Order: sequence, then C-alpha cells, then structure tokens
Amino acid sequence: MPIPLVDLKAQYADIKPEIDAAMQRVVNNTSFILGKEVAQFEKDFATFCRVEHCVGMDSGTAALHLALLLCEVQPGDEVITTTHTFIATAEVISVIGARPVFVDIDPRTYNLDPNLLARAITPRTKVILPVHLYGQPAEMDAIMEIARRRNLRVIEDAAQAHGAEYRGQRAGTMGDVACFSFYPGKNLGAYGDAGALVTNNAELAARARMLRDHGRRSKYEHQIVGYGYRLDALQAAILGAKLPHLDAWNARRRAIADRYTELFAGENLIPPFVPAHITPVFHIYCVRHPNRDGLQAHLKARGIETGVHYPIPLHLQPVYADLGYRVGNFPHTEQAAREILSLPLYPEMTDAQVKWIVDAVKEFHI
Ligand SMILES: *Cc1c(COP(=O)(O)O)cnc(C)c1O
Repeated sequence: MPIPLVDLKAQYADIKPEIDAAMQRVVNNTSFILGKEVAQFEKDFATFCRVEHCVGMDSGTAALHLALLLCEVQPGDEVITTTHTFIATAEVISVIGARPVFVDIDPRTYNLDPNLLARAITPRTKVILPVHLYGQPAEMDAIMEIARRRNLRVIEDAAQAHGAEYRGQRAGTMGDVACFSFYPGKNLGAYGDAGALVTNNAELAARARMLRDHGRRSKYEHQIVGYGYRLDALQAAILGAKLPHLDAWNARRRAIADRYTELFAGENLIPPFVPAHITPVFHIYCVRHPNRDGLQAHLKARGIETGVHYPIPLHLQPVYADLGYRVGNFPHTEQAAREILSLPLYPEMTDAQVKWIVDAVKEFHI
C-alpha cells in the first residue's frame, strides 16, 4: 500500500459535512473579506492558544513580517534565529533590510541552542526569533531569560506547533508575539494560504490589525503604511470548522509518534527526543539515520513517501551567500541536514500503516 507523507484527502473525508457547511455559509452571505467569520475564528484560535489576541493573516510569512515590524526591527538591525528552519523565518528579516544572525541547534531537539545566544548578541540585536520546529517548543525559559536581561524582544515562530506545550504553556504565549501558519499541511491547515499572529499585548494586536489592512483606522482613513495581509473569510470558516478537532488530531499524532518510537527500539536509527517538560504536537516525525539517502530510496521503492526538513541549512543557502557563512560554521545543523528523514505522520494514519512503515525500515540494512 502506498503511503503519502501527509493525506489531506483522508482528513476532508472525515469532516466533509462540517467543511462543506462552513464554505457554503460564506458563499451564501458573500461576506468574503474580514467580517464575522474572521472575527469568530480569531476569538476561537486565541482561546485555543490561551492567549489574549489573535489577528488573522493571509500566511504565516505575513505574520512573521508584521511581527518584526511590531518589534520595531529596522534596516541594519540584527535578528537572531536558527539556521535549521524553513526559509520564511529568515526571509522576512531580510525583506525589512535587517540581518539574520544564525545560531546552531541542540542536536537532540533540532531547536535553537540557547547556550549559543549570548555570543550572537551585538549592540544591533533587536529580536530573538526561536522556531518550535517539528511541533516541539524551543527551550523558552532560557531564551526569555536572556532576552529580558539584554532587553530584546522575542518572536515565536509557532508555524509547526499549534497546541504544543512547554511547561504547561501553549506555544505562542511565551514571547512578545507569535506567528502561526495554516498552510494546508500544517497541524491546522486551511484550503490555501492562511496564518495568524497572536499576542497578549493589546497595543501590538491593534497595530497588527491596522498593518494587515492597509494601515486603516476606518474604511477610507489610513493612519500608517500597511499591507494587504488579511485572512480570507472562506479560510477562516474552514479553519473554524477544523479547530474543534485539533486537540484530538494532535493527540493522535502523539500516539502514532509514540508507537513509531516504541517499535524502532534497538534499530540503527535515532527517533525524536522529547524532554519531559514538553508536550509536542509532531508536525513532523523526524528520525536520523547514518545512510539517510539509502533509507529514503528503500522506502520510496516500497511506496512510502518521506521528506527532509530541511536539506540545506539557511546559512548555506545561495540567497544568503553574502552573509559570509561557511560550511562548518554550524556543525550540528549540517550533520542533521545529512541524516534526518521525516516519516509519514498524519492523524488519519492507521496502526497498520505505522507497522508497515516500521517493517519496511527494519528491512533496510546499510
Ligand atoms: C510553514 C512555515 C512558515 C511559513 O508559513 P506560510 O503560511 O507558508 O507562509 C514559517 N516558518 C515555519 C517554521 C514554517 O514551517
């Protein structure tokens, strides 16, 4: 049986009546821009995250861009982030004319190593931008402690971590601002591009609302230079229909991950490491193998789709050649990029599919 990395069709089949009704509602009332659907979803998602304010955006990237503007990042400023992430995390820093300053990961969790922050801070540093990669929160206590001491703002890139917890606090509630993506394959996915910015700071939330909607104060009065970054009402309605399922989907992801890890015991492969104080949501189930490419080809031949998140660290991306980084700068990330493999994981996967994948992995010998 062929197994995809994610199966969005299976999810739609499970909740078709709810999704269809939500879409039909928007089409019937033709309130396509902002309005009730967006306001309701923002309220519900804020409740889900246990945060005061949620501002819907048209992508996670847009949310990250506005988060940096809210933190008053300007051309020439520096923002410290991880080199092991999706390009969008750093891209928005560059779009502003600021400089991404990369740090290496903790090789066990794949998240930014907070012990490396002090050395990366300069007088130009404005923000620390940790990513909760694969659905596992970064080491936020240590990050917040150094940020407060050095008077820096913290933006959480929670694009892969809807509902994940760090010492009982949900991802997106610990920094000054946090950004979520609802890209279709994310734990909470729209039927197109969508995202959100969340914060407990009312002033920042109000400014984000203006910035995402052409700097408007009222229909034809524009207070500041803004953007067209609004969340679509159709996407908000779809997200609102899915949100009541999210905790159960995340729990199912954890159960599948636990099953994988249990069945992989004794294999020549390193399963994800989850610190005791963290409740992950397994956006991705990432293993390490010394012959990753061989294992990936072996699984592909058996119809099992896998991924690599991410094969090229940001400091070695062609677009960042002018930042002056070299091979060897961040050895933990560079080694991870060679060894990591994302196995299929989505809530609708059956136990039989998990077993099939584990058996296929066990048939592989370097
Ligand atoms: C998906 C993702 C983004 C970007 O979100 P979009 O909604 O695709 O713009 C940013 N950061 C990380 C870590 C992501 O996984």
